[in-house]
Amino acid sequence: MISDYDIIVIGGGHAGAEAAWAASRLGAKTALISLDPTRIGAMSCNPAIGGLAKGQMVREIDALGGLMGIATDNTGIQFRMLNRSKGPAVWGPRAQADKYKYAAEVQRLLATCPNLTVIAGEVAELIVEGGLCNVDKKDAPQSTIHPPQSIRGVTLTTGTHLRCRAAIVTTGTFLRALMHTGEQKTEGGRVGEQAAKGLSGCLTSLGFEVGRLKTGTPPRLHRDSIDFTKFEPQVGDESPIPFSYLNEYGDLQSPICNLQSTDAASRLQIANCKSQISWNPPLPQVNCYLGNTNQKIHEIIRANLHRAPMYSGQIQSTGPRYCPSIEDKVVRFADKESHHLFLEPEGLDTPEIYVNGISTSLPADVQEQIVRLIPGLENAKFIRFGYAVEYDMVWPSQIRSTMETKRVSGLFLAGQINDTSGYEEAAAQGQLAGINAARLVATGTADFVLRRDQAYMGVLVDDLVTKPPIEPYRMFTSRAEHRLHLRSDNADERLTPIGREIGLVDDARWAAFQKQKETVDEITGLLQQLKLDGVPVVDLLRRPEVTLADTAKELQSAPLMALDPLMASKIETKIKYAGYIARQDKAIERFAKMETKLIPTDFNYARVTGLRNEALQKLTKFTPRSLGQALRISGITPADVTLLAIAVDRKQNRPQMNTDTHR
Ligand code: FAD
Repeated sequence: MISDYDIIVIGGGHAGAEAAWAASRLGAKTALISLDPTRIGAMSCNPAIGGLAKGQMVREIDALGGLMGIATDNTGIQFRMLNRSKGPAVWGPRAQADKYKYAAEVQRLLATCPNLTVIAGEVAELIVEGGLCNVDKKDAPQSTIHPPQSIRGVTLTTGTHLRCRAAIVTTGTFLRALMHTGEQKTEGGRVGEQAAKGLSGCLTSLGFEVGRLKTGTPPRLHRDSIDFTKFEPQVGDESPIPFSYLNEYGDLQSPICNLQSTDAASRLQIANCKSQISWNPPLPQVNCYLGNTNQKIHEIIRANLHRAPMYSGQIQSTGPRYCPSIEDKVVRFADKESHHLFLEPEGLDTPEIYVNGISTSLPADVQEQIVRLIPGLENAKFIRFGYAVEYDMVWPSQIRSTMETKRVSGLFLAGQINDTSGYEEAAAQGQLAGINAARLVATGTADFVLRRDQAYMGVLVDDLVTKPPIEPYRMFTSRAEHRLHLRSDNADERLTPIGREIGLVDDARWAAFQKQKETVDEITGLLQQLKLDGVPVVDLLRRPEVTLADTAKELQSAPLMALDPLMASKIETKIKYAGYIARQDKAIERFAKMETKLIPTDFNYARVTGLRNEALQKLTKFTPRSLGQALRISGITPADVTLLAIAVDRKQNRPQMNTDTHR
């Protein structure tokens, strides 16, 4: 069979864009099919990228050679490093983006991919060999037991069939989507956009367990109708830190850097000149504004709960606990007298202001009442009312750590369809799915998995496949046990060599990474030779209260004082954390043994002697990739894993060993 494409990506949201970028740049002939290509890269909800743990993921996506960091840097209108008062392990880069320019930038970047075709259309069905949802339905077995199935293509609502070798479904909030504002219900995945109706029925008929979730968004107000003097301005960082390492590396070259010298002081001066990174966001920067709700507002909300779709019973599905609507907050935190809200500009050339913090699906008249009770919003004009959207998704116990479905080989799922919430979570999954689909097509094996100690992206996928969430999953720093390692400043050290190995990091990024690494190593090495009052500088820097900037002043070292702040912070963090990280490395090494002990995909758990019934059921359902992953499934005990380890060893020691690593 001749395929029209190696890979078809269904959906052009954050998961789809990143998947198409990765797959096509890895050489796969890729098609990105989306309902409305002019909306590719659209920000459905808040006009911002990053934040705590999410920002780390954007840095990771970038370090692997992804798209999101570059698009954010090019369209950011306010950059802030969150949690700066805490340790660098939990700093979270965040940027407000101009949402129209962001989508346009994603589309521009995708247009530079030579192997990528963008197609406007709705995918209604998947063509699956051996499946029940395909064009050859009459040949499909009429049984509830599903035979081995593999993806062969997709069918559009127009009836066009497109053949492919792998497909990535990234349909976000669009499957059978229904929007709610009070009693009013409208079909559609996002305001002004249609719902995708066919695909979830097709997934169900292929045997997938499909669920229904909801999410919501706040109203958008007209800038000119707001009295900003009644809000507290939130300014961006004076020296913004870019998301993309390509911008961070900047131009590490200057003629003086080529000087040769042997003494430590002049070498430091030379290394320092190499470290001068200067990045300025290309777009003008703006302020956001902080305000508060009040008791009067809460009373009106309480009085109108019977008209709120979540409380009237009109919506039954679960929403993201960590992004609650204002009606949820008022009910759940009844004793709180006010809740913060932030006014965030949606772009430079649009009057739309996003009211972060009051996501709601209350009726329009109630929204008007509550908004106008906020000081400064007395005369607010609504550009759009807040709404909630209900949509179909697929429970993620049905995917492997590679994002490939267990049920249909060559079929990958990524983004909000996998029970997650957020652009960054979607993009991370899209990138992993794009990489694995491309590897499957090129080598027959989808085997790219990041471990929990390597990346938040690894934590995300491992959590999804071992503890499928019952509500939309959002990333937090607290989900990562190795967060001292998983910092936003070192994502390139952790992942760029891996990105290079798999072919996603191009020559230019690789050369810039190496140059930066050399400079950091060089300056760190030189610091190791310096002493202050007889104490090695590196020992002083390990003390929490000592900074590199203070030490430089004490030493009266001009080159150290002139060190680029970003470079100084990188080096200081590296030195400060060295001891903790060495200890954590030992723990990771112990875990690594469990992680590398893979369980064959065709492993028959029923044959493990002595396994408890509950363990048998859970292991059969989740089919963990490794013994380590098996241990993380809730309800699986160390004793179960010991029995499993013996059985896996036995199977692997047999001569006809199964070498399938395709997961
Ligand atoms: P999406 O960005 O939804 O993109 C899906 C893409 O698939 C679209 O391009 C669509 O056109 C396309 N598509 C769908 N079906 C088909 C088909 N059959 N054929 C072809 N193309 C198809 N996230 C938060 O973190 N916090 C929030 O508070 C929050 N609130 C939200 C409120 C609303 C109203 C909405 C709509 C979303 C909200 N989100 C929120 C979610 C956030 O938008 C998503 O997490 C993120 O966009 C998911 O990215 P994705 O790529 O998976 O899907």
